[in-house]
Amino acid sequence: MALYEFATDLDTPVHPVSAPDYMPVEQLRALQLHRLQATVKRVYENVPLTRRRMDERGVKPEHIKTLKDIALLPFMKKVDLRDEYPLGLLASPMNEIVRFHCSSGTTGKPIVLANTENDIHVWQQATMRALAMFGLRSSDILQVSYGYGLFTGGLGLHYGGEGLGCAVLPTSGGNTDRQLMLMKDLGVTAIACTPSYFLHLIDEGLKKGIDFKKEMKLKHGIFGAEPWTGEMREMMENVTGLCAHDIYGLTEISGPGVAGDCPYRCGLHVFEDHFYPEVIDPDTLEPLPDGEAGELVFTTLDRTGMPMLRYRTRDLTRIIPGTCKCGRTMRRIERVSARSDDMLIIRGVNVFPSQIEAGLLSIESVLPHYHIVVDRQGDLDTLEVKVEVTQETFSDDIKSLEALRKRISQAIQRIININAKITLVEPHTLPRSQGKIQRVTDLRKKQ
Ligand SMILES: [Zn+2]
Repeated sequence: MALYEFATDLDTPVHPVSAPDYMPVEQLRALQLHRLQATVKRVYENVPLTRRRMDERGVKPEHIKTLKDIALLPFMKKVDLRDEYPLGLLASPMNEIVRFHCSSGTTGKPIVLANTENDIHVWQQATMRALAMFGLRSSDILQVSYGYGLFTGGLGLHYGGEGLGCAVLPTSGGNTDRQLMLMKDLGVTAIACTPSYFLHLIDEGLKKGIDFKKEMKLKHGIFGAEPWTGEMREMMENVTGLCAHDIYGLTEISGPGVAGDCPYRCGLHVFEDHFYPEVIDPDTLEPLPDGEAGELVFTTLDRTGMPMLRYRTRDLTRIIPGTCKCGRTMRRIERVSARSDDMLIIRGVNVFPSQIEAGLLSIESVLPHYHIVVDRQGDLDTLEVKVEVTQETFSDDIKSLEALRKRISQAIQRIININAKITLVEPHTLPRSQGKIQRVTDLRKKQ
């Protein structure tokens, strides 16, 4: 019996590329251990930083006898990639490297990731499996509006789509008018971009009087590279009629396609035959049992150019215990709506922009365009949320606007327990994104 006959997906026949998704658990664990051992050996032999750290702990590659022994290994962090810039973590000779990608940091030099032909293949397979899981097939026309280039979004989805046999339209980011024109004229059925860029496309389309449900053929949206909420998903689906899928990935681990949600939407399946997930307590660094929330850590199991051992992603989530109704044996993580890096500390309270987004979008007539400004007056942190509302609402009388402001403020306060100043603005007045959006201005940093 072929492996994919285990499949019980909703109404999408299982694509052959999805076969490994249904691998029996014992077989999966054995494969993971085998690959982990090979990766640890490769890194120990080729990467001086990791070898030194393992030696300091008295750990040798042969000590990895079970998957649990992964806890013996040192962690890797983004700062290691910076310190070892550009190629200190290389574990393959340069003649085997076929492509570089970079991830920009907020300060200083970017981090560089080197991919062998094998790494590109592993990444493409994972992205193909994600797209197949979302329900895309070779008959789909996939518009890739992620940026092409050093960023992994564009090329990642491009090769994933081509691998699946889709007709790929590589628009990259920007030039929104042309994006909408091609989307309509070619009858594009799937789009891949950041959620904020898709909002921008919707916004510009509506301005032109486009009825997305009637005039476009969009069935699938593949969104990732920035945190977004369930409320945002619902809004995008309601306006356009497409099904919004969550794709997760990061350049350090390969790019988009590390995990994605299946039709049951009960978390994101990690393609853990390639990328081994752990969740740790970010303070004690101890591994947490499945079900407990903490920081997500990944080990690449079969990458060879720059393998990552226990890479700390700074993303907060948990591994969802139990099996999914879809029959996939790949474990699931809860959707990542918070990155430690995005966390704001306001009056001593930890606040994530996604929490504010959830509060905003729970109110009718609020548009999904907002900007958060944090400042300090005297010793007190202040929080202002600027948000667009519909033109009709904006033209309401002062009393109605005041009532709306109060409702929004209360909705946010219920979630984060902080009283925010709400500024309502007209549609199309806040900055839009051509890639990843910047939703927060923290003026305290300049003081
Ligand atoms: Zn599932």
